[in-house]
Amino acid sequence: MSWNDLPVSRRSVLLGSLAACCGCRSVPMTDRRQLLLSTEGSEAQLGLTSYQSILKEEAESKNAHFKELVDRVGQRIAKVSGRDDFQWEFRTLASEQQNAFCLPGGKVAVYEGIMPVCQTEAGLAVVMSHEIGHALARHGGERMSQSKLVNGGKQAVAFVTRNQDAKRQEMIAQAYGLGSQYGVLLPFSRKHELEADEIGLMLMSKAGYDPSEAPTFWTRFGASNSSQQPVEYASTHPSNEHRASALAAQMSEANELYLAASDKIGKGEAIQIAQAGAASPSGVSPAKSSIQAAGFSADEF
Ligand SMILES: [Zn+2]
Repeated sequence: MSWNDLPVSRRSVLLGSLAACCGCRSVPMTDRRQLLLSTEGSEAQLGLTSYQSILKEEAESKNAHFKELVDRVGQRIAKVSGRDDFQWEFRTLASEQQNAFCLPGGKVAVYEGIMPVCQTEAGLAVVMSHEIGHALARHGGERMSQSKLVNGGKQAVAFVTRNQDAKRQEMIAQAYGLGSQYGVLLPFSRKHELEADEIGLMLMSKAGYDPSEAPTFWTRFGASNSSQQPVEYASTHPSNEHRASALAAQMSEANELYLAASDKIGKGEAIQIAQAGAASPSGVSPAKSSIQAAGFSADEF
């Protein structure tokens, strides 16, 4: 029997018990307890399907320098990720978007548009380790589980209020919708971003990249996006100030990992922007819609 075949009353009982046990897994490196209603295998399968459709729709970069760096930095981070079981793959896509993603199972893509903001190999390591952080923490699966919970919750609210008059039912449903958007989904997304920052900082340090590059990168990234920065409350993303202070608090732990790294790269090679190949016009990328269709969220950091 599938989830959708279950009666609403049964679903609320099930969701209640799942929420109560809420100890399915701890996030690696941060130890936060998270609730997951999907298996890692099914997430990886969805990740692979999305990845394959993205590669059909999006042109790959023709810039050999970018591709070599993305592959090199990605391999170094993958090596210290503790996930030898992932089918790692690193691609560079020819789009001017300032974006990147890592799908469950280890399929990573970096858009050409983010390369000028990275400036160095270490800057690229900030971006890629943040994305890989989302995948290690199974944020995609967690977000899908949350939307299942919210949808189940909506149906449960409708079931409980079914004998009330129509206007009151509608008011309760609306209040529930607003509450779940601002109270559950968005703050959790900010939590995911900060968690990916933290995991990413530790990963890049372990891989031998200078962790002091992380706050510097986010400042540069914030400045290049300053006109589009929304107020923090309604945003799914932490403000740059919030992000910088969280990273500062984690810097001594990151430095210890960096000092212990066997192969220190420091800031690594500078990224040659003059060699940039022709990028496709910016705008809404087909990749983004493929990821969203699969239930994942395209990352915008
Ligand atoms: Zn992110």
